[in-house]
Amino acid sequence: MTALPQVLLDEATLAARVRELGAAITRDYRERELVVVVVLKGSFMFAADLIRAIDLPLQVDFLGVRSYGDSTTSSGVVQITSDLSSPVEDKDVLVVEDIVDTGLTLRFLLENLETRGPCSIKLAALLHKPARTVVPVQIDYRGFEIEDVFVVGYGLDHAQRHRNLPYVGMLPGNES
Ligand code: 5GP
Repeated sequence: MTALPQVLLDEATLAARVRELGAAITRDYRERELVVVVVLKGSFMFAADLIRAIDLPLQVDFLGVRSYGDSTTSSGVVQITSDLSSPVEDKDVLVVEDIVDTGLTLRFLLENLETRGPCSIKLAALLHKPARTVVPVQIDYRGFEIEDVFVVGYGLDHAQRHRNLPYVGMLPGNES
């Protein structure tokens, strides 16, 4: 029998923090129209909750990325597997990411989006592992800082499993 991941951030804790982030984004972007860029796949659940906590007119678009590396670490070589459906030129872009680990994926993505001429780009990330930083990335809206452990659930996977857990948990034995 496979043991369930151990709870690190439970549903109520996630929901409360996501509401706070949504309120901060609503305040900061008042009178502006936002394009929320959801980085697939891991951030889909966070993004679904976050955009419902933002009380502004907004558009949602999706960016599919694959970052190469072994199963639990990123190499910084990132491929866009599915691009945005509309240009973001002159738009206020909020990138929504699940987790900033080494920062390599985000650095690549932010540089790529920058070349498209947006009015502004900010980043919302549910989780941040500062101990693993290779390239620093500015996180404008950060959910939680966590230790150097491999987490799953609330959209995050390990070999495509565990995305449907309603909480963020650690794999038994912390397979990172
Ligand atoms: P980075 O390029 O910052 O090292 O890694 C970014 C990506 O690696 C994240 O978007 C996520 O897909 C994956 N990743 C990094 N740490 C974890 C983790 O603890 N759990 C899971 N499931 N994915 C992770």
